[in-house]
Amino acid sequence: MSGYRHILLAVDFFEHDDVVIGRACDLAAVYQAKLSLIHVVDNLPMLDAGYGDMPYPLDLNAELMAITQAKLTKLAATLAVAQADVWLETGSAKLEIVRIAQEQHADLIVVGSHGRHGLALLLGSTANSILHHAQCYVLAVRLPAD
Ligand code: AMP
Repeated sequence: MSGYRHILLAVDFFEHDDVVIGRACDLAAVYQAKLSLIHVVDNLPMLDAGYGDMPYPLDLNAELMAITQAKLTKLAATLAVAQADVWLETGSAKLEIVRIAQEQHADLIVVGSHGRHGLALLLGSTANSILHHAQCYVLAVRLPAD
């Protein structure tokens, strides 16, 4: 293998994401690879009149996207990643990360690996799903236990 040319870094903005970010940056520097960033916002449930009073404002989705976009933009600036290489998607993180990696011809996805999201222990972690479905290399960076 001659190295990596395009690394897709999946950030969830949870604790310890600096470990994942650091490893992706190190690899990008070593291989002089392009670095792209992705974050996926889960879709909030569709609002339906049948639910009556909603516990959150109608534009929460838009607010969440704006806040997340700001975080991504800040991180991209810190890592000198061009805005054109920053992906903010909605839906399932497992699916969207694999899809963008494929569409953008990434040859390595870097994700964190732990099982702290309760149900994920039963359903399989994001990293595990990406490892099984990605068509490129995947680096699962071991995260410190909580
Ligand atoms: P999890 O399996 O959910 O604990 O997440 C493990 C790793 O998957 C994280 O460290 C991130 O690299 C990636 N990941 C999880 N959720 C997201 C998300 N919503 N957007 C981008 N990356 C994510």
